[in-house]
Amino acid sequence: MGRALITGGAGFLGSHLCDLFLSRGHEVICMDNFITGNPANVQHLFGRDGFSFVKYDVTNYIHVDGPLDYVLHFASPASPIDYLEKPIQTLKVGSLGTHKTLGLALNKRARYLLASTSETYGDPLVHPQKEDYWGNVNPVGPRGVYDEAKRFAEAMTMAYHRFHGVETRIVRIFNTYGERMRINDGRVVPAFISQALRDEPLTVFGDGSQTRSFCYVSDLIEGIYRLLMSDERLPTNIGNPNEMTVLQFAEEIKRLTGTNAPIEFRPLPEDDPKIRRPDITKAKTLLGWQPVVPLAEGLSKTIDYFRSVV
Ligand code: UDP
Repeated sequence: MGRALITGGAGFLGSHLCDLFLSRGHEVICMDNFITGNPANVQHLFGRDGFSFVKYDVTNYIHVDGPLDYVLHFASPASPIDYLEKPIQTLKVGSLGTHKTLGLALNKRARYLLASTSETYGDPLVHPQKEDYWGNVNPVGPRGVYDEAKRFAEAMTMAYHRFHGVETRIVRIFNTYGERMRINDGRVVPAFISQALRDEPLTVFGDGSQTRSFCYVSDLIEGIYRLLMSDERLPTNIGNPNEMTVLQFAEEIKRLTGTNAPIEFRPLPEDDPKIRRPDITKAKTLLGWQPVVPLAEGLSKTIDYFRSVV
């Protein structure tokens, strides 16, 4: 079925990709330096046939023994708090890391998939966001380190495709949630769930009128797999178009956990996008893919997971 290198393989999305690739009969090399990844996410895979792990920082030259059929570049801090705390590493893994992984894909004649992001649209002036929208990003704001690194990564990926003929795919990932998110990564899903489970106030930033659209991890991973196996070279949105305000999301977490904890309002972080919803027409048409897990079902599974780690 082919051998895949997954960078950031011990992270939230990376570890779910490792699971899916192994279950579909691929060999998997998982690479991570644990800056934000966690060995516990792939602990269950150690010793399993076809799985190997390498602790490595992919901003350096990467050597892999033997053939490779797929390279999936998922290494990066991905929560606003993480990239505020690790701005240089975020820029390096998006730029140097993308360059090194593309070089490896070229060398091995492997198919390459870049994990890009809805952040390439910045604080969008077009709604919902379609792939042909070029975005509204502040390059020098606090989120610029992530947004611009990913925009550079997309440009680099297209250059390797056009100049070197590498088979490339680019997925623009929208807000995703599920088991193995880091409890203290600062993102809204782990933040609200852990607060609710401790009966602490849910911290809504701003007035909570900003919107997000949340996709359950199994839906997202299936979409990514289909994109990799397709012929589409240009960026493709994968996410759930079910849009809601952050305040509505807080109420939903309260309902599902049964907490009576109050909602507390906090200042809105700089450059926090006011609206976000993927237009997934392209993924539907091209990949025959759309999310199937309802929010309440995905959140219940996620809450159970956080109960076991809180
Ligand atoms: N947010 C919030 N309270 C929190 C954490 C986040 O209200 O404790 C808001 C945040 O301001 C943003 C939304 O929830 O509007 C989603 O934030 P997250 O950090 O999950 O990711 P983003 O979509 O901004 O990349």
